[in-house]
Amino acid sequence: MSKKDSGCSFCGRSRNEVGVLIAGVTGHICESCVQQAHSIIKEEDLVTNQAAESKTELIKPAEIKAKLDDYVIGQDDAKRVLSVAVYNHYKRLNQPAATDDVEIEKSNVILVGRTGTGKTLLAKTIAKLLNVPFCIADATVLTEAGYVGEDVESILSRLLQAADYNVNAAQRGIVFIDEIDKIARKSDNPSITRDVSGEGVQQALLKLLEGSIVNVPPQGGRKHPEQKMIQIDTRNVLFVCGGAFDGIEKIIANRVNRQTIGFSSTDEERIDSEALLKYINPTDVKSFGLIPELIGRFPVLTYLEPLDAASLKRILTEPKNALVKQYIRLLEMDKVKLSFDADVLDFIVQKAIDFKLGARGLRSICEAILNEAMFELPSTGEKQFRVTLDYAKAQFSKSKIAQLKVA
Ligand code: ADP
Repeated sequence: MSKKDSGCSFCGRSRNEVGVLIAGVTGHICESCVQQAHSIIKEEDLVTNQAAESKTELIKPAEIKAKLDDYVIGQDDAKRVLSVAVYNHYKRLNQPAATDDVEIEKSNVILVGRTGTGKTLLAKTIAKLLNVPFCIADATVLTEAGYVGEDVESILSRLLQAADYNVNAAQRGIVFIDEIDKIARKSDNPSITRDVSGEGVQQALLKLLEGSIVNVPPQGGRKHPEQKMIQIDTRNVLFVCGGAFDGIEKIIANRVNRQTIGFSSTDEERIDSEALLKYINPTDVKSFGLIPELIGRFPVLTYLEPLDAASLKRILTEPKNALVKQYIRLLEMDKVKLSFDADVLDFIVQKAIDFKLGARGLRSICEAILNEAMFELPSTGEKQFRVTLDYAKAQFSKSKIAQLKVA
């Protein structure tokens, strides 16, 4: 073998100068050339991926709704409105720049509905099916710049992290801001005193919503003052806000009844308060304390219904990843066939209602009932396990939830 043959055929260094040397059919390649080649390929990949990501696959509203149906029970009005908003949003993004003079505006969305009715789940499911980055921010921890708490820019840090620091992808992502009702102006009267956690934050949020280039600390927070800022253009980020807006039914009732004076006066004819939410409009949200500029940035407003026992039972069993299906699958992995008597499901639902835990509570109630079985069964070698009502009641009564006082 000649001296030349024994070195790296790419960089020409001899065998003594290199670490690992890999032999091919006609030559050799050294460790450092392999690493260099790898980073070239990675860079190329990133460019191709970013180009691909600058278009989001369009899914028609009816298809979006059908897919949401797989995961979210009920809430038909919200699903329809949201499907159209999302479709229009991504249609707007995909249109070639400056094709004509019709500028399509963003369709940021406000979802009004009690806690645990599926607001976050809807936004998260949409992001998953569109395969765009998604993050959740909590409006209650936000404050105006310069005050203790998180700056609004921290929301975009999260989005950037969800996008694995791919700026292009983040710029087409979806941000869910929870508890937007908690930053309502404290009184309808704009006062001269500073309102750093209410109106101040609403003002700060405007900047993100109106579509501007924002300097974002990639690690978030103020703990890393030395970090280099990344610029994010929020023009194409879709913002979905959620809030319970406690008491907004009264505001709607006042407005609706005022408008219908002369038509209805008896109690039976009055629209019942549970159903009032479907009449919500932007003026109600304004009366609640969101500033008009902010409401103007959310052209789409819809509502989620409170979940009744029948819906809670469906949530327990029907969605693709329903809790009952998850527990059955978990025990299947231990070769145990788990089954629930029908009245156990009603018991779980009733406890979620009694303890005012809503859909979120279903999980903790199931855990309370099944924890002991999930502890024992993998070791006992039993092949099946049937959860009866007596068993469920006994296990539940031993749990921490059972000790809670119902308000
Ligand atoms: P919120 O309205 O407070 O944002 P979430 O969407 O976070 O409520 O719901 C909490 C949990 O309750 C979800 O993770 C899901 O398991 C369940 N859930 C709530 N509403 C629904 C629904 N309509 N369909 C299916 N599951 C739901």
